[in-house]
Amino acid sequence: MTSHFDTIVVGGGCAGLSCATALIESGQNNILLLEKKSFLGGRTHSYLDQKSGEMLDNGQHLFLGAYHETKVFLDRISSLDELCFRQHYATILRGKKFGRAILRPKELPAPFHMSFSMMGFKALTIYERVKLLGLLRAFFYTKKQLGRLSVKELLDRCGQSQSSLINFWEPLVLATLNAELKEARADFLMEVLTKGFFSSYSNALAGLSRVPLSELIALPAKTFIDGSGAYVQEGESVISIEDYREQPLLLHAKSGRKYTCDQLVLAIPPGSMKTLSLYSDSGLDRHIETMPRLQASPILSYHFWVDQEIFSQAYMGFVDHEIQWIFNLSAYAKPKQFLYTCIISARAQLMGKTRQEIQTLLQSLIREYFPDACAKVLRVCPSHQAKATWNLKVGDAKISNMTVSPRVFFAGDWVGTDLPCTIEAAVQSGHQAAQLILKSFRNQKNIDQS
Ligand SMILES: Cc1cc2nc3c(=O)[nH]c(=O)nc-3n(C[C@H](O)[C@H](O)[C@H](O)COP(=O)(O)OP(=O)(O)OC[C@H]3O[C@@H](n4cnc5c(N)ncnc54)[C@H](O)[C@@H]3O)c2cc1C
Repeated sequence: MTSHFDTIVVGGGCAGLSCATALIESGQNNILLLEKKSFLGGRTHSYLDQKSGEMLDNGQHLFLGAYHETKVFLDRISSLDELCFRQHYATILRGKKFGRAILRPKELPAPFHMSFSMMGFKALTIYERVKLLGLLRAFFYTKKQLGRLSVKELLDRCGQSQSSLINFWEPLVLATLNAELKEARADFLMEVLTKGFFSSYSNALAGLSRVPLSELIALPAKTFIDGSGAYVQEGESVISIEDYREQPLLLHAKSGRKYTCDQLVLAIPPGSMKTLSLYSDSGLDRHIETMPRLQASPILSYHFWVDQEIFSQAYMGFVDHEIQWIFNLSAYAKPKQFLYTCIISARAQLMGKTRQEIQTLLQSLIREYFPDACAKVLRVCPSHQAKATWNLKVGDAKISNMTVSPRVFFAGDWVGTDLPCTIEAAVQSGHQAAQLILKSFRNQKNIDQS
């Protein structure tokens, strides 16, 4: 392996992998991807649970039909067929007050694909369903104005009642933005609603992976990169970068190895970015130092095994319970036993709960909501991600893929898009960084020729 590359991508999550594979697809293959951990995938990975022999995901991931760039990426690495978008993956909410409410897109032109389902959505009273139309007011705000409002402020201005916040908006916002209503940005919510739920039937469909996340993303991406003649180096943590004009970019790894390149993509989370030592005459160090601070938000996942089926649907939400969502892996994957995963978003205070406490909590939820099931929780396996997403604070300006250095670009779920931190944001951002690199090579070629 040579140590000079046209492009080095640092970070092997969805952003880094989508960037590297897009560059390769465009004919570039003198590329190196460096990943700190011993495996690729970043926040989308799976690991072997020795006791059950199951491959478990670091956390359940839900996709949307509107994840167009993600579909392009998965298609490129030949794993799109493992993702299935189904109408029967309806969103079911359970609550003490209303029982069971179902939201299911219908194969009709927009906005009718959702309107009929919304009008019959029992989590809201008939009056509250009509009041949802108040949200049309949000379309009179510019993106900039929305970026200065929290979701709570926007919903208050649009006349949403307290009980609709609890029974509808909070579960939706926790699941899509991983933040509380008061902290989540209104512009991100509007993006999810307009591009995801309300733009078309196919965009509103939920998607789930038939295979563990690593088999959907990391492994096929690695096969793609290896097969192209480009390089991947796992277990290689970049600790410092030198960016001086007239010299190639120089990267130092923790292992002591050095790498040089013409273009660099930093596809790492903002927290990791701040730990890099930077030496530069372009002002890159100052650029990173003065970026808006992003707030890390947790997602707690608990995989749990039961002795019999609790429910047969793919997933369900619980509005007045500490457990927010439960996914039933038997409905879309092929677990060896009855395996479910529960998810709790943006609630750091629950991280201290022991397995036994969670097991008791789950057992009481089953008793309360599924008394006929009589299912017994046999084992719980926690997977906590304290830094699951990096949320931009209300009012802070968005961060661009471009930096002050014309040779260094950012990629990641937190940068360069109008989306909340999701796989789609990461992939879109990775693709954007690849486009910027290609443009920069084209410009350089034109200069060399003239
Ligand atoms: C539990 C959980 C549930 C989620 N659920 C959903 C969901 O349902 N739907 C959805 O769309 N999204 C979901 N997300 C969010 C989604 O996983 C992320 O937005 C996405 O994976 C981020 O990808 P990324 O490439 O930007 O960052 P990462 O995946 O964090 O990748 C960055 C990589 O950089 C590496 N790195 C860091 N520093 C260095 C260094 N110095 N040198 C070399 N490498 C370095 C890291 O090890 C990491 O592999 C969820 C996330 C979690 C954690």
